[in-house]
Amino acid sequence: MLEARDLAVGYREGIDILQGISLEAAPGAITAIIGPNGAGKSTLLRCLFGLLPPRRGDVLLEGRSIDDWSTDRRKAAGIAYLPQHNSTFPHLTIEENLKLGGWLLRDDRAKLRERMEYVYGLFPILAERRRARATDLSGGQLRMLSVAKELVTPPRLLLVDEPSVGMAPIVASELYDLLVRLPGWGITVLLVDQNITDAIRIAERVYLIGEGRVQRTESGAWFQDHLEEVIREMLQGPVPESPRA
Ligand code: ADP
Ligand code: MG
Repeated sequence: MLEARDLAVGYREGIDILQGISLEAAPGAITAIIGPNGAGKSTLLRCLFGLLPPRRGDVLLEGRSIDDWSTDRRKAAGIAYLPQHNSTFPHLTIEENLKLGGWLLRDDRAKLRERMEYVYGLFPILAERRRARATDLSGGQLRMLSVAKELVTPPRLLLVDEPSVGMAPIVASELYDLLVRLPGWGITVLLVDQNITDAIRIAERVYLIGEGRVQRTESGAWFQDHLEEVIREMLQGPVPESPRA
């Protein structure tokens, strides 16, 4: 559905964080991108959403280049992006935050109401606290609100960066259980995560990135069977050249 072809991306002239990344988010599936801190996972998602232009390579949506599309156009085409840091508005209530998430439906109030009730159904804790300000939520609830906000206008593709960051493990596993259900509702997921255990558990395909490139791509099941080996690889990085005498 969404494809990165030979993407090179950087923030400064001459320094490419990503040096030729090719990968694909298959329709109706969860695809995960894992890799060490600083590998460029967040950079990649920013580029896919159009926040950062690639220096080389292409982004394709259903086979068609979207390189010259603005983020607004990508959003209108059904791509939603959940950044690593919360994108909620702290001084607004939960209800107001969700309404902003449904901005594209602003001219159809009945539809917006219906979608909000649907989302409240998925996140009962948010429904209970709908009049509370986002600042009064716990870290985990705030992250949940960020996800919920992206589901009001149902996207076709959700780009999600570190969904469980700052969450207690039990809350995190609830969130992953929810992500698993998204493909069943027609939402393709591209997940970037340092929480490897949960990511490989729910992903059909996993890309391990490091050193600016895809180091490995296998099924989620393969990664589960080779978890120790993969973690060792990630911690050690590439084998250093032996010093010359
Ligand atoms: P990850 O999400 O895998 O932890 P990031 O994509 O956040 O990695 O960062 C990859 C590299 O890009 C890091 O070396 C980081 O310091 C650098 N970087 C990230 N954001 C910026 C920025 N806005 N300006 C300059 N360098 C950045
Ligand atoms: Mg990151």
